[in-house]
Amino acid sequence: MTVTCPHSVTAGSYLLGVLHPSELEEYRRHAGSCPHCEREIADLTPVARFLKVFKAEIEAGEEVDVSLLLGHIRPRQSPPEESVRD
Ligand SMILES: [Zn+2]
Repeated sequence: MTVTCPHSVTAGSYLLGVLHPSELEEYRRHAGSCPHCEREIADLTPVARFLKVFKAEIEAGEEVDVSLLLGHIRPRQSPPEESVRD
């Protein structure tokens, strides 16, 4: 049985930085005292990071190597940092 917090869906928006400032403040306060949200944030952080990289590469007009990007969301195998950018 899984107990979920109704606010946990907000974690994704929070991590993607799309919350309104008032919601952001409220959610931060809530997440500080809610183990479900804390866990949700911990779980989603790698995904959010991946999406940010993905978005940045698309915006930069770079060819997106999804398999390489997916390496970023694997918690235990972080590939060596490669900065191959002109
Ligand atoms: Zn919560």
